[in-house]
Amino acid sequence: MSQTSTTSAAERATQHAANGGMSPHDADARHAHIIIVGTGFAGLGMAIKLKQQGSNDFLLLERGDDVGGTWRDNTYPGCACDVPSQLYSFSFALNPGWSRTYSSQREIWAYLRDCAARYGILPHIRSQHAVRAAAWDDATNRWRITTNQGDYTADILILGQGPLSEPAKPAIPGIENFAGTLFHSAQWDHAHDLHGERVAVIGTGASAIQIVPQIQPQVSQLLLLQRTPPWIVPRLDRAVPAWRQRMYRAVPLTQRLTRTLVYWQRELGALGLVYRPKLMQSAARIAQRHLAAQVPNADLRAKLTPHYTMGCKRILVSDDFYPAVSQPNVTVETAGIREVRPHSIITSDGREHAVDTIIYATGFHVTDMPIAQAVRGRRGATLADAWQSGSQAYLGTTVAGFPNMFLLVGPNTGLGHTSMVLMMEAQFAYITDALRTLAQRGVQTVEITPAAQQAYNEEIQRKLQGTVWLSGCASWYLDAKGRNTTLWPGFTWEFRRRTRHFDPAHYTLQPQRVAPAVAATP
Ligand code: NAP
Repeated sequence: MSQTSTTSAAERATQHAANGGMSPHDADARHAHIIIVGTGFAGLGMAIKLKQQGSNDFLLLERGDDVGGTWRDNTYPGCACDVPSQLYSFSFALNPGWSRTYSSQREIWAYLRDCAARYGILPHIRSQHAVRAAAWDDATNRWRITTNQGDYTADILILGQGPLSEPAKPAIPGIENFAGTLFHSAQWDHAHDLHGERVAVIGTGASAIQIVPQIQPQVSQLLLLQRTPPWIVPRLDRAVPAWRQRMYRAVPLTQRLTRTLVYWQRELGALGLVYRPKLMQSAARIAQRHLAAQVPNADLRAKLTPHYTMGCKRILVSDDFYPAVSQPNVTVETAGIREVRPHSIITSDGREHAVDTIIYATGFHVTDMPIAQAVRGRRGATLADAWQSGSQAYLGTTVAGFPNMFLLVGPNTGLGHTSMVLMMEAQFAYITDALRTLAQRGVQTVEITPAAQQAYNEEIQRKLQGTVWLSGCASWYLDAKGRNTTLWPGFTWEFRRRTRHFDPAHYTLQPQRVAPAVAATP
């Protein structure tokens, strides 16, 4: 890495500590061959793969003070994963010690911190570095990345900030006048005690259904503002017995077999979501039986019954949400929110609900990620400009007009049925192969051709047409124009097959500039 000395000795010492013991000399680096944004599953996994292929000239810019991404930020009570632990981890770093079928946030975060340390990634991380902007410079063929702690340059930019990083807080009339406590599920206010309070939770998505059973016993009244009831199937979470953990440690192949089994079980889910939405009817019956068994009250059951095809929105898993909302201190309110007053919420039917605290469990900016406004490619166009008619990328990874840039968990790489880590790992393979190819061929810039990107996205949008996600519900899978720009329409192995090798034929490759061997004579 090249060095420029712009920081004081004290700042360098602080940075040294923050970087996990990296030498102050290295901590001054303002240029790296590769800069990765984010240290969640995506950024960390990418860094580990780079390291494993012998690359050390990379930095990770992290806005927080620790690794972990969404698993660091989401600390709300009950936060856990709804994908089985065996699959929600890197294939190259299986964890024999998962304590439950579905891991808690704490356990996943600890796993990621352990991976960062174990694979030697900590010295590459610049924590508390929030990326404000990134711009491609045609003159130098480099990315200039502006952070809250100064500028960096890189030959290659990898965006791994993820789609679940920017909390969405809907503009509700009067919310700015609310005199009580207000926070988002991803920014939980642990200093605030909910005991005995009247609490409103807005939303009934994956986060809300985990929060509600945890806080219901503490609060005096819980007002759950539901716009659309989710489909919920049994979670069947269990402790992993100690003997099984010992077996995984002693004979790692047994854990690999378990993972393979879980992989194929989950993969079957794509059949109904993507290829045969009618198959969702049998899964819907399981969910209906679950609701009937857990909610004896017919009026409440009617409110909680979804009226759209199962799978159109994310299918949720829970064994404790329905029992919690059946408790006498919970009201499931289906009238919309008209306005918020200093001490209450007024619903669209004119009723006033007194509340002390409001919790937004309203999700994230997924199809309108703020970073798209901040990344500029050739001729100064932002990603948001390029994505005016819908975000798109080639293989969810490269975007025309944005040379030497790779997206992790980019457009149409999301899943409705299994672990996102599988998709990320496919992208790691593609990107590392791309970087290897560039180095071998002496390529300075690589850029997907507009034709290849367009053909790919036409294919993706065609495939999406028959899927359950376009069966008529509103969801965060769709952008403002109703296009599904988030999900991969297929099995994960299909994506893995397509990303196994970098395909230079679809790219414009510009060779390294070679300095003239002989000075021109006058
Ligand atoms: P979400 O799934 O987007 O749910 C947001 C909820 O807020 C929905 O019920 C939505 O209603 C409601 N909402 C949004 N705006 C509203 C408004 N203006 N008025 C009233 N209600 C409003 O968000 P999330 O629960 O935070 O989950 C986001 C994603 O994070 C998940 O889909 C999942 O990918 C991930 N997640 C995963 C886990 C896990 O276990 N792995 C756990 C939590 C989150 P509508 O349905 O009507 O839009």
